[in-house]
Amino acid sequence: MISEEELARLSYPDAPKVITKIPGPIAQGLLDESDRYDTPTGADRTAPIVWDQGLGATVKDVDGNIFIDLTSGVAVSSVGRLHPKVVEVIKEQSAKLMHSIFINPMSVELAKKLSNVMPEGLRDQCFICYTLSGSTAIEVAIKYARAITGKKNFIAFQGAYHGVWQGSLALTTSTLARSGYGPLMSGVFHAPYGYCYRCFAHLEYPNCGLECAKYFDHLLNAPGTGVDDVAAVIAEPIQGEGGYIAPPPEFFRMIKAACDKKGTLFIADEVQSGAGRTGKMWAIEHYGVVPDMLVFGKGVGGDQPLAGVAVSAGFRDKLPAGSQPITFSRNALSCAVALANIDILTDSDADLIGRARKLGEEIKNKFVEAAKDSKVIGEVRGKGLMISVELVKNKETREPVSKLPDILKKCWDQGIIVFPCGPRRNVLRLMPPLTISRAQLNKAIDVLLDLLREGEDDLAR
Ligand code: PMP
Repeated sequence: MISEEELARLSYPDAPKVITKIPGPIAQGLLDESDRYDTPTGADRTAPIVWDQGLGATVKDVDGNIFIDLTSGVAVSSVGRLHPKVVEVIKEQSAKLMHSIFINPMSVELAKKLSNVMPEGLRDQCFICYTLSGSTAIEVAIKYARAITGKKNFIAFQGAYHGVWQGSLALTTSTLARSGYGPLMSGVFHAPYGYCYRCFAHLEYPNCGLECAKYFDHLLNAPGTGVDDVAAVIAEPIQGEGGYIAPPPEFFRMIKAACDKKGTLFIADEVQSGAGRTGKMWAIEHYGVVPDMLVFGKGVGGDQPLAGVAVSAGFRDKLPAGSQPITFSRNALSCAVALANIDILTDSDADLIGRARKLGEEIKNKFVEAAKDSKVIGEVRGKGLMISVELVKNKETREPVSKLPDILKKCWDQGIIVFPCGPRRNVLRLMPPLTISRAQLNKAIDVLLDLLREGEDDLAR
């Protein structure tokens, strides 16, 4: 396993270090200009931090403040920022070829490599369609599922986030993302997810008998439910924006069995949960289910944008060649960076993915310990370095806290960047780069735990 000393060298050693109020004067000027000339994203509304430099798991803002980043730019920087191997590859590739809509050695090499690291069952038995973002990759998966099955409808899950375009947004349930942008793609149904802490049927696992998965089976397979002509079900193996929720072990096996009864495709959206984050290369591998398509993004591209879909090889003939032109999709630089990322993640000597599994358990245990005396830590969950802490005003009623933004602000004032998630915005999510040193991660978690302890009376109000 890679040594802690080696990992520490990948980040700024002196993080966190805050020397101005946040945002500082230069950041404030840029935020104002951005308000005037740019389109706000969710990220800059959550944390008004203007990034100037990034290194490993740390970030320096334009005023010289240094932060420990527990967001990875929303699960993107799995290998950290400016990893030396990535920088080397960028230098080499940018001197040779960058844009190419044509086949190039990097695009072919990456398709082979991706196919090679897919879950057993898809591994070396799939082909790849590249896109530039997770949302676009989901649009591709939607089109492919229709072309492959000849059917037109979809089932997604309550709490899902699959992107922002007309199809992917129709699968997404976030009110903020959807409102005002309809009508969206028709023919989408939403089933309850395996979110045990807030079970749709008010049951308790394991005595519930997986009522959520049984209800899904009923929707898809019972007569007269109004859910017919379903091309595919699209699921995040661990919900991301929905609250970092890992369903019980049986959930996806039951969902897949229900799909198999009807010849419905099962598509795993691994845009957020993939690239080693959960302690396996793909989160669906925790569930032993083989998807018909696997959608990837974020951590695969890392410092360069790249996403795409791995499609089961048997479906190739159903998709007319040349029917999916995407001008920028085979960018040789992005492909070279993704190749480097996968090499770094799958290097068995460094074992970053195994380390993520172990480190994740350590961090989760810290929160589980703290939860025992906490008024507000309702649930600690997740896998690997995809961890969440659901905060409630009252552990009996599970009423969500409403003052999480106060904690987030106090975090960045101390040089820690943390994001929330969940439809109630009451869940803290921890998704640091897999290359974060144990010392820096513990430092950040201790700040967070102290703030939760000090602020619990206020949060509980
Ligand atoms: N699917 C999932 C599971 C995601 O988390 C996201 C982004 N948060 C997307 C799709 C969309 O990806 P992008 O923002 O790259 O379009």
